[in-house]
Amino acid sequence: MGLCCSETKEKSFGMLTHWKQFKRMLNRELTQLSEMSRSGNQVSEFISNTFLDKQNELELPCPMAKTREWKKRPHHQTQLEGQGTLTQISGVRKLSHSTGLQGSSISRFGVKTDQEDLLSKDLENINKWGLNIFRVAEHSHNRPLTCTMYTIFQERDLMNTFKIPADTFVTFMMTLEAHYHSDVEYHNSLHAADVAQSTHILLSTPALDAVFTDLEILAAVFAAAIHDVDHPGVSNQFLINTNSELALMYNDESVLENHHLAVGFKLLQEDNCDIFQNLTKKERQSLRRMVIDMVLATDMSKHMSLLADLKTMVETKKVTSSGVLLLDNYTDKIQVMRNMVHCADLSNPTKSLDLYRQWTDRIMNEFSHQGDREREKGMEISPMCDKHTASVEKSQVGFIDYIVHPLWETWADLVHPDAQDILDTLEDNRNWYQSMIPQRPSPPFCTGDGEGDREGGHRFQFELTLDDEQDGEMGVEEGERGTEEGWSPVDQGGV
Ligand SMILES: [Zn+2]
Repeated sequence: MGLCCSETKEKSFGMLTHWKQFKRMLNRELTQLSEMSRSGNQVSEFISNTFLDKQNELELPCPMAKTREWKKRPHHQTQLEGQGTLTQISGVRKLSHSTGLQGSSISRFGVKTDQEDLLSKDLENINKWGLNIFRVAEHSHNRPLTCTMYTIFQERDLMNTFKIPADTFVTFMMTLEAHYHSDVEYHNSLHAADVAQSTHILLSTPALDAVFTDLEILAAVFAAAIHDVDHPGVSNQFLINTNSELALMYNDESVLENHHLAVGFKLLQEDNCDIFQNLTKKERQSLRRMVIDMVLATDMSKHMSLLADLKTMVETKKVTSSGVLLLDNYTDKIQVMRNMVHCADLSNPTKSLDLYRQWTDRIMNEFSHQGDREREKGMEISPMCDKHTASVEKSQVGFIDYIVHPLWETWADLVHPDAQDILDTLEDNRNWYQSMIPQRPSPPFCTGDGEGDREGGHRFQFELTLDDEQDGEMGVEEGERGTEEGWSPVDQGGV
């Protein structure tokens, strides 16, 4: 495609248009979904609350409810709620020596394990989408993040390139891993290890061959590793609604993501933890800027604008004669990087069904715990968080149809044909969850919410091109697809 001097202008116009179109289209689809049934309504509410940025559309909060919550201190507090002071970063703890490496030599994967052979076998798949991170955790005394990162850094020779002492690297990774909450079902160090490893793979996709510098690679993998650290297992909205210290600290804007960054960078200052000690000042500044950008982009409420930008990039993409993507400026590069980490964060439904289902169980458990806390506090229970009514299968099908598939399809266009297998797995998984949606029994048991028949058979497909702008509508196609209907889950919390 030929380019001219008006390219930049067209690009930003395209982005804005895409973003508006996406929002309008999704709103319309979600309204339709919510009118179909009670569970459809819940799924629709969930997507709308999680993936649409409502920053500018909020009505004023009810002052009565706020006052009540403010006075009544929650009795079950997470580490980061209610720590009393804004002068320090909450959640950073001094750890016992068990994370240090006193006197011991560093083992093959950076962790002590009596199952090194099994761990070694698991980690042979470090460069594959099929790596089983659950087994890595099992064979590393539950240190999946440390040994996955250690292996990735070895594989990419990053320790040598950036002169990172091995003991510093392991001390930092152990400290970071210890700041993930092992009692949080989904957003723990296993998820961080999964996102880091997925990012590591996406960085190696042939279409991006030699596109990124070592520093950019370092930044992307580091961002993935810290991107959910000290996650309390509740969403941004929950933290805002309960007047948590964190929401206060970050003025309700990307509360968790700001916190993950603050903790991640703060931990570098702990004893023997500065893995960036031998970077130049300029490199450190540049790395920090990129990491902040990528982690803030994991706020799911930024999803639609990220996707709209990615769409625009696909439509104006330039490739070299060897088929590699041409990204010649910082803006384009960082845009690909933030979408890459976002894709990795939303990659559960693209993994083998066995792995995907384990992630789904975990996120649903985390949601229902949040729901329990909301119930205890007399708050309205967030969508998908009520264990008595949440529809797991439907939510996964909806999650895939409205969020995950549109994102991955666009990523696949960007790196065509590298991601075809991933897309195929995603579609198979969607169809599996669709087939598992429980059929409602007929009358006597019908509770009268109109569930069932009406939403029986079609699936939405989003098609968006710049040519669709004439009448301001997106090209939305509702394709009939037999009896299928789907949604997939993933990292739906304020990730
Ligand atoms: Zn995440």
